[in-house]
Amino acid sequence: MESVSRVIERVREQIPVIGETESVPITDAVGRVLCQPLIAPRDVPVAPLSLFDGYAMRAPVARGDRFVVAGKQFAGDPPAHLAPGTAMRIFTGALLPEGADTVIAQESTETDDADAIRCTESLSAGAGVRQTGADTREGEVLLPAGTRIGPSMIGLVASTGMAEVRVTRRPRVALLTTGDELLDPGAAFTPGKIYDANGPMLEALLHSAGAEIVCRASLPDDADIIEARLREAADADLIVTSGGVSVGEADLVRAGVEALGRIDHWRVFLKPGKPLAVGEVQGTPFFGLPGNPVSTFVTFLLFVRTALEKAAGQSDPGSLPTQPLPLATARRGADRPEYIRVRRVQRDGRIVLEPYPDQNSGLLSSLAWADGLAFIPEGAELAAGDPVEFIAFKELGP
Ligand code: AMP
Ligand code: MG
Repeated sequence: MESVSRVIERVREQIPVIGETESVPITDAVGRVLCQPLIAPRDVPVAPLSLFDGYAMRAPVARGDRFVVAGKQFAGDPPAHLAPGTAMRIFTGALLPEGADTVIAQESTETDDADAIRCTESLSAGAGVRQTGADTREGEVLLPAGTRIGPSMIGLVASTGMAEVRVTRRPRVALLTTGDELLDPGAAFTPGKIYDANGPMLEALLHSAGAEIVCRASLPDDADIIEARLREAADADLIVTSGGVSVGEADLVRAGVEALGRIDHWRVFLKPGKPLAVGEVQGTPFFGLPGNPVSTFVTFLLFVRTALEKAAGQSDPGSLPTQPLPLATARRGADRPEYIRVRRVQRDGRIVLEPYPDQNSGLLSSLAWADGLAFIPEGAELAAGDPVEFIAFKELGP
């Protein structure tokens, strides 16, 4: 049995980065990965701006100085000309008039008469001004290649005037669920069946990881059908299946993969998720996830998400945010490293991790309840308050 870290390491090394790229509008760029560094095409701001409403003038300015106010400079207007020895009314975000180098805030002035002000503070050149290039310098790397674009970066890109960014095309994924017992949600219920939970869940997980689903089917436990659909699925960048990879009689996915390609890892030293198959089908990377829904979810996050990040060219694949947090209660580790479903709760003014009472890997209610996973090393003897690694998944988005 392989360790989790070894399998992740292999995924990071072996999944190829997609070579094709495309330009997308910045409004569609969240979740996409930059295939080249994003270089600023201009300085931002392109010229000095006023930081607040006040009066533009030329330094030095001493407390008590009096200026005649000769004109107004609004945001969006081209720069006016400041006559020597005068001030100009100016508003937040307006260009500095030519000849001005300083802005005094409205609150630091007194109206002397209808068209003059008196300064109540001294200022040196540059005060009250956002200088050229203070935010961004032309030619500067705004975001390095391999960055997955988040909402916090969109404003920066837009501020430089760029309307599109160049990204790796989305990884194309074939998703096959298997099991004679599966019914599509919405279908009439018949005895012996269960509704397919993994299919819709994996679709959502794939979308949240930036993948495009190009092939999706729910297959019976039939060796010929499974093999035929795996062969078709090999056109995708990545194949993901659920079920059929343990040692039961109806576990036919493994056999199909072995007929068309190979399995590199089968069984990972992990709870939940031991029967996980990783390999390739006609050269296309293959992940055979276990059928138990919680195992499916956990193995997707650890391995498939990492593979998709690598395929999309992300510079830090396997980047789900982790942080150490204390356990709410004492816990003994299992015979395998375990990811347990936990919630963050406040106890005595600090955040601790409360485990779901029943960690059975068939309970989808535990996943919907949880904020994330806590890692419990095999055989660990943890006391209440001991820190463990926490992986947040509730906030996972596109
Ligand atoms: P398997 O790995 O195919 O032996 O499946 C293990 C367990 O997970 C069985 O109880 C299956 O009924 C269940 N299971 C498999 N696929 C799904 C699915 N798509 N949705 C919900 N449960 C599933
Ligand atoms: Mg099955």
